[in-house]
Amino acid sequence: MKKMKKDIVLAAVAAACAISLAACGGSTQETTQAETTTAAAAQESKEEAGAGEDTSAEAAEAETESEAAEGAGGQLIMATNAEFPPYEYHDSSVTGPDGSDIVGIDAEIAGAIAENMGRELVIEDIAFDSIIPELQSGKADIGAAGMTVTEDRLMNVDFSDTYATAVQAIIVTGDSEIAGPDDLADKLIGVQQGTTGDIYASDDFGDENVERYPKGVDAVQALIQGKVDAVIIDNEPAKVFVGENEGLKLLDTAYAEEEYAIAVKKGNTELLEQVNKAIQELKESGKLDEIVAKYISAE
Ligand code: GLN
Repeated sequence: MKKMKKDIVLAAVAAACAISLAACGGSTQETTQAETTTAAAAQESKEEAGAGEDTSAEAAEAETESEAAEGAGGQLIMATNAEFPPYEYHDSSVTGPDGSDIVGIDAEIAGAIAENMGRELVIEDIAFDSIIPELQSGKADIGAAGMTVTEDRLMNVDFSDTYATAVQAIIVTGDSEIAGPDDLADKLIGVQQGTTGDIYASDDFGDENVERYPKGVDAVQALIQGKVDAVIIDNEPAKVFVGENEGLKLLDTAYAEEEYAIAVKKGNTELLEQVNKAIQELKESGKLDEIVAKYISAE
């Protein structure tokens, strides 16, 4: 029941974003409140990280760097977690859009956005739950990481128009009796830390029943080793991980539906509009479909 309600909320948030930019950016008053939240959250995360007094100096420096990078000819810094095939992952046999070995749907979309803006793409591979703080501090310009639009995240960042839909899928071992979300109660669930799979599973089944791993693939390894009973993760990486490992199955019953979008620092409307314009062009020209088809074979 709880999950159903959540799905509706998420759909509403995504719809609001799709219909109007203003709905994502919020009114002036909302923005002010959100900025306060953001500043508090940033402060909190700094304190948690045990960072010393020089953190604010670092943040100030980063801010300058990012501001210097704005405008045509500069860099477009994309923060991601390149452990999420087919959206972003390392492949040493190819060269990605920023000249590194990071490829995937998001990497190519970001490459096209950078090109559209006349900027040079730079991809930063960091922990998934560091992406939002990195945007808030101004160290990165965009977060492109198969990132789901959620109400909580909308308090800390702004999201572009959505470019993909996804579902949270359940992976179990071939001999498992778990057949759907209802069978997950009192089972140990592996997730990638800070993802919607983590957030929903913790909400629905309790923190004590959720094991968090830095990468989705680590959660899948834990499942293979019998350390957890199931893994909840986005459907496309789930397909890749199940394909790469023997003895696993992907359940037909989805756990939650969601939408991916690109995140920018809260209030950076200028960048958000440029990103949305580029996404719009990618959709209209058929280039987005082409990129997706390159990485996901039609079923
Ligand atoms: N879509 C999920 C989320 O936004 C997972 C993203 C990821 O692991 N890169 O939380």
